[in-house]
Amino acid sequence: MTDSVVIIGAGQAGGQTALSLRQNGFEGTITLIGDEPYVPYERPPLSKSYLAGDVAEERMFMRPAAFYAEKHIVLMPRTTVARIDRAAKKVRLAGGTQLPYTELVLATGGRVRKMTCPGADLPGVHYLRNIDDVLGFRDRITAGLKLVIVGGGYIGLEVAAVAIKRGCRVTVLEMLPLVLNRVVAPEMSHFYTDVHRTAGVDLRTSTGVTAFEGDGKVERVRFGDAVIDADLVIVGIGIIPNVELAADAGLAVDNGIMVDECTRTADPDIFAAGDCSNHFNAIVGARLRLESVPNALAQGKAAALAILGRPEPVVEVPWFWSDQYDLKLQMTGLSRPGDQIIIRGSMAERKFSACYLREGVFVACQSVNMAKDFIQSKKLIADRATPDPAKLADPAIALRDL
Ligand SMILES: Cc1cc2nc3c(=O)[nH]c(=O)nc-3n(C[C@H](O)[C@H](O)[C@H](O)COP(=O)(O)OP(=O)(O)OC[C@H]3O[C@@H](n4cnc5c(N)ncnc54)[C@H](O)[C@@H]3O)c2cc1C
Repeated sequence: MTDSVVIIGAGQAGGQTALSLRQNGFEGTITLIGDEPYVPYERPPLSKSYLAGDVAEERMFMRPAAFYAEKHIVLMPRTTVARIDRAAKKVRLAGGTQLPYTELVLATGGRVRKMTCPGADLPGVHYLRNIDDVLGFRDRITAGLKLVIVGGGYIGLEVAAVAIKRGCRVTVLEMLPLVLNRVVAPEMSHFYTDVHRTAGVDLRTSTGVTAFEGDGKVERVRFGDAVIDADLVIVGIGIIPNVELAADAGLAVDNGIMVDECTRTADPDIFAAGDCSNHFNAIVGARLRLESVPNALAQGKAAALAILGRPEPVVEVPWFWSDQYDLKLQMTGLSRPGDQIIIRGSMAERKFSACYLREGVFVACQSVNMAKDFIQSKKLIADRATPDPAKLADPAIALRDL
């Protein structure tokens, strides 16, 4: 049988795998199966420029639809894979059709975590993962709308920034005492809380939603004894990785599909890339499941190379970004509670970096409007640098000189 790669999931990891296979000379069949109606696209604008109506859908596509035909990549949108038969090396589609593979790539991403409290099914309670999700509420983000956002993570805060600009009355409800709690130090969290409150967002922490209420549609959000009015609710409380296909096929799963540093699972013909995969990151020194575009692209490339018999481990400093108002937040490495934090620059002038040291080693950097620090911090983290904290605190000294 000629080589036939089947990729499940037409997101950025799946799309990148297909592109990298062709770019690196793969001549066999490539079938890219995705349950959404679109060609692979970038999700970051969904909570930023696309939500704001500033970019057209096509601008988010990784490549135009015609590209896939030109490259002989068989794209199967609106198609769900229901099962993997490893013994027969076939995937079964939801309609029953079977497709053989020589190599299989799982790039299934994640699905939104849903609210389970009373009223969670009311019309007007929305989530945000796909283009279609945004199309379901974007037109309603207009002046005067009472918008309640559940979850003070990146997505919730980015939506808040867009909605405030549009003149909505925005409330953000975060269950934990701090926003962005999972990924930043309290100093950063307080900074973003102040930014949003100053912009007019009613941001409430330590506030867990207990019910959505309304007559036929959401009209109120309840948290304990308190209640606020809502015309529209957007929930952003994280994702659950889509690992069920892998688990049902007997592949190891532990917060993601377990892969090696070249994206291969324990089955030598099956790979996993992107949000759905759990890999060892040599720079961080731990197994991780990353939810970021750079990781989806790096792992997509790595899967292609491994399939081509030229495996190259993914050795990348994790990085991520978030745009809120005039603030471009760029993050490298992974911080943890207990890390020493050093601020360089001025929080008041909204131009600074939070640098994190763990036992003296530079492990992470979160830059706000400091693009140079973002770029230069990657190397310090990769080199496990131990900069002098006093010099680190001085923004006049470039990170690369430390
Ligand atoms: C609103 C939003 C904002 C974001 N902002 C940023 C940002 O600023 N920076 C950043 O780095 N990252 C950001 N991210 C995260 C980033 O978009 C993801 O990490 C990235 O999209 C992961 O790509 P992926 O291909 O692994 O998964 P996905 O993009 O989730 O793609 C997986 C695809 O597989 C499909 N699928 C799943 N199971 C099946 C099946 N059985 N059959 C067929 N198809 C299936 C899914 O429907 C989906 O289309 C953001 C995400 C969202 C939602």
